[in-house]
Amino acid sequence: MHNGFTKSAQLFTEAVNYIPGGVNSPVRAFQAVGGKPVFIAKGEGALLTDVDGNTYIDYVGSWGPLVLGHRHPEVVKALHNCLEKGTSFGAPTELETLLAKMIVEAMPSVDMVRLVNSGTEATMSAIRLARGYTRRNKIIKFAGCYHGHADFLLIQAGSGALTLGVPTSPGVPASTAEHTIIAPYNDLDIVQEIFRRAGEDIAAIIVEPVAGNMGVVPPAPGFLAGLRELTAQYGSLLIIDEVMTGFRVAYGGAQVLYDVEPDLTTLGKIIGGGLPVGAYAGKKEIMYAVAPAGPVYQAGTLSGNPLAVTAGIATLQLLRRPGVYETLEQKSARLEQGLRQAAAEAGLELTFNRVGSMFCTFFTNQPVTDYDSATRSDTKQFARFFAGMLQKGVYLAPSQFEAAFMSLAHSDEQIDQTIKAARAVFKELV
Ligand code: PMP
Repeated sequence: MHNGFTKSAQLFTEAVNYIPGGVNSPVRAFQAVGGKPVFIAKGEGALLTDVDGNTYIDYVGSWGPLVLGHRHPEVVKALHNCLEKGTSFGAPTELETLLAKMIVEAMPSVDMVRLVNSGTEATMSAIRLARGYTRRNKIIKFAGCYHGHADFLLIQAGSGALTLGVPTSPGVPASTAEHTIIAPYNDLDIVQEIFRRAGEDIAAIIVEPVAGNMGVVPPAPGFLAGLRELTAQYGSLLIIDEVMTGFRVAYGGAQVLYDVEPDLTTLGKIIGGGLPVGAYAGKKEIMYAVAPAGPVYQAGTLSGNPLAVTAGIATLQLLRRPGVYETLEQKSARLEQGLRQAAAEAGLELTFNRVGSMFCTFFTNQPVTDYDSATRSDTKQFARFFAGMLQKGVYLAPSQFEAAFMSLAHSDEQIDQTIKAARAVFKELV
């Protein structure tokens, strides 16, 4: 039985008085799906419980970090132990080296790691480093990719910016935007043309190796390898933004899955195990340019925070165990197959994109390979799908242009329950 959303609605009414839009990140608003956000009381495994006592099978997973599910006992235990010793010192701890070492061991392209507090900080700092190191200003970014909210990356951005229809935000000076060149995702020819014209001015390409912020869009065969080749040819850096994909699509991230070695990697989400962590990382020669080893300045009061780093270490320790990614793949394939079948039964032609445990159901019968094809999806129909699933106890991201995430905590029964809910909702849509 559904308890309704009375308490959530009350809390939201109160929140909008004190917090812009009632949320601390725009993606949490249910604006695009025409509703009010659900306020969460607690999470456990694959389940969320809202303040009205409704439970949901959660496919948001705090937008990616919770690959183990909510409150994994080993993460919770590690956090308890850490809490006994203090919450922040602003001085080095052994934990930071431990997490950095785990990342270095996981990613062949990475020799050194600098920890920060969010994905935004990671990409912003990586771009500064690329510019400082190459002594060039221009960067190439792909339409529909989201790399956090730094000015020069908030141009034709995906995620909430795309959902809310403000892909380029007011407040970004034209003089800042002028250094960001936008190319269509998966279009190597255009990138080649940009390099032919301006290659000597380009500090870096930044790319989501599997785009997850315009829905999920896998890289076309040869796309990432082509970017690697072009950047190497022109002395530019390749930055692979693995904030979402790192330790998600494979232990070493998409760069291991697709066998491409970037100069710099950005990380976040999973490496913080549900607490705020980001990182930028790469080859020694480049990372030596970061202060205090080198001249490119970047700092943070809470960077390498012991609690956050502890949650990250505990999470990676679990992910490193044999069979983990095979299990994630099996669970995700089970869901995909069930959803495909349910859609076909209802006579709906949808497009499913999935790489491992990140996936997306696009309400279009055309392939989705870039920003343009993603935005041809029927967002009104997605909104009805979302509302129907929520009512039936399945919590999805409230936008067509976001990824869904499977966790290790999802049981086959919960996956089958999700398929059953989708079967009913798909039928209501036609
Ligand atoms: N890069 C990518 C690929 C992301 O998906 C995100 C967040 N969804 C970010 C950067 C920004 O991370 P954060 O929200 O932690 O600032």
